Amino acid sequence: MLLFDTLRGAKFPLVIPPAAERPLSLYVCGVTPYDTTHIGHAHTFLIFDVLIRYVRHRGGVVRYVRNVTDVDDPLFERATRDGRHWKELAESETDKFHRDCVALNMLPPDHVPRVSQEIDGMLPIIEGLVGRGYAYAAGGSVYFSVAHWPQYGEMVRERLPDRAALLTAANAMGNVPDDPHKRDPLDFVLWRPSNPGEPAWPSPWGAGRPGWHIECTAMATRYLGNQLDIHGGGRDLTFPHHPSEIAQSEAYTGCAPFARFWMHGGLAFLNGEKMSKSLGNLVLIRDAVRRHSTAALRWYLLRTPYRADFNYVTDEVHATEAQVGRLFDALGATGGSGTPLELGRGRDAVLDWLDDDLQTDRALPILAELAEQVSAAAADGRDVGSAQAQLRELLDVFGFPLSRPWPR
Ligand SMILES: [Zn+2]
Repeated sequence: MLLFDTLRGAKFPLVIPPAAERPLSLYVCGVTPYDTTHIGHAHTFLIFDVLIRYVRHRGGVVRYVRNVTDVDDPLFERATRDGRHWKELAESETDKFHRDCVALNMLPPDHVPRVSQEIDGMLPIIEGLVGRGYAYAAGGSVYFSVAHWPQYGEMVRERLPDRAALLTAANAMGNVPDDPHKRDPLDFVLWRPSNPGEPAWPSPWGAGRPGWHIECTAMATRYLGNQLDIHGGGRDLTFPHHPSEIAQSEAYTGCAPFARFWMHGGLAFLNGEKMSKSLGNLVLIRDAVRRHSTAALRWYLLRTPYRADFNYVTDEVHATEAQVGRLFDALGATGGSGTPLELGRGRDAVLDWLDDDLQTDRALPILAELAEQVSAAAADGRDVGSAQAQLRELLDVFGFPLSRPWPR
């Protein structure tokens, strides 16, 4: 199949090995569990769900890891504000997020590592980077030295063409440029002392906690090895998170590329404004799954090209219910003994669109037509048994539930 690789900026072939040979490895950056997992996250995670289902359909298998960032400033701030222990808040929000994923009929990852339980995997990597001269310790912190990684930010060279642009973008994502211990304002933190009230783990540089990026290198390499087939996340991770992962991973393991494909989902907007915690315009997954059926939400989120930004409109999701209702009508239709219907070329067309960079937006209208054909043929007394089996198989590749949900 073809997949778009953000790093190389074009589509390239991804060879799907047979399941008996080896699994494809997929690492997706997960969420910080406080209370903000929104429909934009669902959109991103859904495309990986369809990818896994499509690979399975092609006879392959995916080993899927999605982490939980339960060591993070916003989580600690929320816990303090609510008078809860950070760990308890993180666990309860992680459970809620996983229930949201189940409600969206997403396949569970094979591993869901939590940062707080993976510190032992990060320390040797940080020590290794210091030992090899890629990182330095100062004032209880350890920094990655971007001077030793000239290709830093290659992934976003078009959007952020120079050092000044990289620095502005990094600062907007929490980089502290005037940290007196840094040799270069763009150097990023691998380890730092914890603030009062935050958890702290012992380390060669004193008690502290990891910086943001190192967690994914540690968890990806622990569960999937030094090189990944596919690494993904939302497009907001294309800088500084993913370039930092590349720098520290390749510097540490000596294996390049760290990931053969970088896949990024577009961002969610509401009324033309980017959904963000600070604007207070998040549509939480848990609210959406209460309001709409699983099939309608999946259809709605998959009808936009996965790399494109999308504007979420509740009324439009609502209107999608009728569309997915017709899928279930087709599956449940009773035909006769007339000329059997075969989906033939229509079925191939759906799969061809998925094979070309998962163009669900192009495949779904054909799927809708096939459902209409099945219903019409059944009404004409034709035998639709085989066509329904093929339709069911296609619906499963998109992860639609195969029976009509109970009314909510
Ligand atoms: Zn990550």
